[in-house]
Amino acid sequence: MNKYLILVVEDDPSVKSLITTTLQMHEYRYITAANGTSAIMQTSSHRPDIILLDLGLPDMDGVDVIKRIRTWSNVPIIVISARSEDTDKIDALDAGADDYLTKPFSVEELLARLRVTQRRIAIMQNENKTDESVFTNGMLRIDYAAGCAYMNGEALHLTPIEYKLLCLLAHNIGKVLTHTYITQKIWGNSLESDIASLRVFMATLRKKLEANPNSPQYIQTHIGVGYRMLKVEEPLQEF
Ligand code: CA
Repeated sequence: MNKYLILVVEDDPSVKSLITTTLQMHEYRYITAANGTSAIMQTSSHRPDIILLDLGLPDMDGVDVIKRIRTWSNVPIIVISARSEDTDKIDALDAGADDYLTKPFSVEELLARLRVTQRRIAIMQNENKTDESVFTNGMLRIDYAAGCAYMNGEALHLTPIEYKLLCLLAHNIGKVLTHTYITQKIWGNSLESDIASLRVFMATLRKKLEANPNSPQYIQTHIGVGYRMLKVEEPLQEF
C-alpha cells in the first residue's frame, strides 16, 4: 500500500484525469486543485507529501505558487510544463521545484518521477537520523570532515572545484539543479562563461566518477536545464 499523498494542481481536465487515474491505479492517495490559490490552501491544510504542479494556471503563475509554498514548506514539487514553456521550467527549478515533467508525458514517466522523489524523501528523512559527516550513494562515499571522496573504496583525485560540484550534487541528491543554481553556488556568478566552465568541470568529474562516462550512473544530464545526482541502488552483497 502506497501511503504518499499527492496534490495534483492542474486546470486541464484531461491531463488531470490522466494523472489521477494513474495515481489511483498505483495506490497513491491524492487531492486536486485547479488553480494556484487553491493549491496553496490545500498544501497548508492537507500537507501533501508531493505536489504535481502545472505551471500554466488560470489565476496565478505556477512559479509564484512555488515561491509562496517555499516560504514555509520543503515539500517536493514536480512541475509540469508545456514544451513551449522551457524558460518557465528553469525559473520553477530556480524557485525551488525539485523536478519537472514536460507535456505530453507518459504514465511511465510520471511514475518514474514519483519514484525518484520518494527516494529523495526517504534520504531526507534518513539524514536526520544518521551521521551527516559521511555521504554514501551506491559505491560513492564522501567524507565531508576529511574533504575526500571515494569510489569503490579508492580515493578520487578531485580538483577543489570538482569536489565542490560533487558535494553540491550530493547535498541535493534526487533534485534537478539548474546551470544557474550550480554556477551561482560554485563561482558566485552565472555568466555564459561560467556555464561553459561548468560543462568542462562536469565532464572531468564524470571521467573520475563514472565507470562508463557515456552512460552515467551517478550524475544525470538534463539538456538545456542542468544536472542531478541519482540515487544508485546498492549492489547485492554476495556471500
Ligand atoms: Ca494549464
